[in-house]
Amino acid sequence: MTKVSIIGAGTAGCIFAHALLKSDKGFEVTIYSDRTPEDWLDNVPPTGTAALYPETIDIERGLGMDHWSQDMHEMHGVLLDFKPTIDGDQKIVVAGRFGERAGGAIDMRMRVHRWLHDFEDMGGKLIIEAVSAARADEIAAQSDLTVLAAGKGELSRLIARDEKRSVYNRPQRKLAMYIVEGMDEGRWDDRADFNPVKFNFYGDTGEYFWVPFTHKSGKYTWCALFEPKPGGKMDIFDDCKTAQDAVDAGNSFIKEHAPWEWDVVKTGKPVEGDPFCWLKGQFPPTVRHAYGMLPCGKPIMPLGDTAITFDPIGGQGGNCAQRNAKFVSDMVIGRGDAPFDAYWMQQVMDAFWGWHGQAAYSFNNILLEPLTEAGQIMLGAAANNRSFADKHFIGNFTKPKDFFPYMTDVEAALSVAGPYLPQQAAE
Ligand SMILES: Cc1cc2nc3c(=O)[nH]c(=O)nc-3n(C[C@H](O)[C@H](O)[C@H](O)COP(=O)(O)OP(=O)(O)OC[C@H]3O[C@@H](n4cnc5c(N)ncnc54)[C@H](O)[C@@H]3O)c2cc1C
Repeated sequence: MTKVSIIGAGTAGCIFAHALLKSDKGFEVTIYSDRTPEDWLDNVPPTGTAALYPETIDIERGLGMDHWSQDMHEMHGVLLDFKPTIDGDQKIVVAGRFGERAGGAIDMRMRVHRWLHDFEDMGGKLIIEAVSAARADEIAAQSDLTVLAAGKGELSRLIARDEKRSVYNRPQRKLAMYIVEGMDEGRWDDRADFNPVKFNFYGDTGEYFWVPFTHKSGKYTWCALFEPKPGGKMDIFDDCKTAQDAVDAGNSFIKEHAPWEWDVVKTGKPVEGDPFCWLKGQFPPTVRHAYGMLPCGKPIMPLGDTAITFDPIGGQGGNCAQRNAKFVSDMVIGRGDAPFDAYWMQQVMDAFWGWHGQAAYSFNNILLEPLTEAGQIMLGAAANNRSFADKHFIGNFTKPKDFFPYMTDVEAALSVAGPYLPQQAAE
């Protein structure tokens, strides 16, 4: 029996594990997790908002892992207020749908909690252990394939950063996230005919979003995510020690700098009974090599955030992590009796990078930078025409390959956006 070890039990590790166990190839699968299922449910914040597009939830559906989307707090698209400068008067508004179907951010704490129990019920072995580098080596020595799905934490350093594919070597934003209830009139009905992810971009300051969030309690809540540029007017979360501190800081910013939505959000309170409904931090977006070579002479393969870590700005990280888990599991299942060696890992990583990773990463990074000239053309057309926004702008968040070359090449942008631009801008 092929012995597969997975270090880290986030969404990527769980999807990978379930996919292997549900194949008819007879894998022996072990997950090493530094958290018990009950820790996941009760004692930690979610590792991210993880708003998922419908195509990503389809992966869970296909594996029989989706037990929540039929009742989720649905997200259908984006309502964006874009201000080039925080103190300027100019504001560009874009509304558009991701597509016909709904996505959603479903609390990963309850998903992982159930998935780990289901994994054991299916015959998987769950070992609760904070794996060290030395233990990873021992685990790999006894396994046919070892996968590192430990997120962006310390152990990910077992696999070197890919200097060519990683663009940044330091965090591009600080991050503060909190989940609130009590915003039930917080649907943005008068501004969008769908339930949006509410984006606010300030070119010189940072960004913040509201994401419809299905809390582990089942409540329909909203998850706020602030992405301050260091030293700017949004950089106010450093001293926060509780969810209420973070909400207070966020509210002070919104009241002054996003008055258009103050009435919608002002009644929001941290979710009752969940002291972990917030987090803050920062990390550099990073792409890792296809494998790390361990002292035992065996390679270890990155999965999910360990393979590609995204700044949350473009809602790509969790979506990519889950696609990556499914993609790699398909490759493992199709491998037959051939070895899971470094050469194979390189081929798989390159194939995933070409299929999805590179486009998702490049698009996400575009959002971290001053908007390209081509991007301004695309944004202008999306602001001016709803069907363009649906088809060529917001609709592409779920399939970032379709953003290219239009977000980087002015001629290409004009070729699709030209007819939709306001007359003056098109000339
Ligand atoms: C604030 C924020 C908001 C986000 N919003 C979105 C969004 O809207 N949409 C989106 O698509 N993505 C979003 N993301 C990204 C998304 O959350 C991640 O891409 C996703 O959670 C990655 O899943 P993962 O399984 O790879 O890693 P993780 O979820 O980080 O799971 C890794 C697991 O490994 C465990 N682990 C770590 N070290 C060890 C060890 N030594 N031994 C054993 N176990 C270990 C950890 O405890 C953890 O349980 C966001 C991220 C952040 C930070």
